[in-house]
Amino acid sequence: MESLAANSKTKRCPECGVYIPIDATRCPDCKKRVGPADKHGVGRKAVNYRAYAEMALAFAVLGLFVWWFFLKG
Ligand SMILES: [Zn+2]
Repeated sequence: MESLAANSKTKRCPECGVYIPIDATRCPDCKKRVGPADKHGVGRKAVNYRAYAEMALAFAVLGLFVWWFFLKG
C-alpha cells in the first residue's frame, strides 16, 4: 500500500517515458504537454486543439487559394 501511494505521486510521460510529478501538465524533459495519468500511471497525451485548428485553417486557406487560382486561370 505504501509503494502504491508513492507511485501515485508520479506519472510517466507518454512521449519520452520519464517519471514526472503527478500534477505536471508539461514534461520537464521533452517539453510536451501531458494530461492526467491513466490507470497504468502513464500520463495521457494532451490533445492540442489549437494545433488542429491551425492545421485545419492552413488547409482551408490552401484549398481556397487553389480554388481561386484555377478559377482565375
Ligand atoms: Zn517527456
